[in-house]
This record gives sequence, C-alpha cells and structure tokens, in this order.
Amino acid sequence: MLELPWTEKQVDGLNQWQAASWTESYTCEERSRHPLDPGILVARTDGWHCPVEGCTYVQKWALVVTAHPEWWMYQDPNKTGAISGA
Ligand SMILES: [Zn+2]
Repeated sequence: MLELPWTEKQVDGLNQWQAASWTESYTCEERSRHPLDPGILVARTDGWHCPVEGCTYVQKWALVVTAHPEWWMYQDPNKTGAISGA
C-alpha cells in the first residue's frame, strides 16, 4: 500500500489513474448515501476524498502501482495513452 502522506507527484499519478478511461477507479464506499453518483474519489496528499457534496468519506489507502502512470500507462488496452479530461 501507498503510505500516507502522498506526495504531489503521487497525487497527480493517482488522479491520472482516476481519469483514465480503461482503469477501475477508486470510488466512495459510502455511495449508498448518494446512489446517483458513484463518488469517483479525488486524491489529495492526505488521502482520497469523495467529491459528492455532503459526503465526508476519506480513504487512506491506494495501491502503489496506481500512483505511477509510467508503470501502468503501457497497459492501456487501446494503446492510445489517452487520459480523459486531461
Ligand atoms: Zn461519497
């Protein structure tokens, strides 16, 4: 697991993971509170935060590999390297 606090570089890598179209994003585990929004978590240096208004879910863990685009980018099944929203 990726030890907290996360560096700015790790945060950037994690958010690239979240934005990539073919990866399985980290999502809020309290999304039963907001069933219309999956709560795609946003990385900050102190952990993942749910972007849904009123939801205070924070997740303290991430897989190390997901913080390193240079490690996972090549696994893009479409080989586009495309990051949605970037
Ligand atoms: Zn949430």
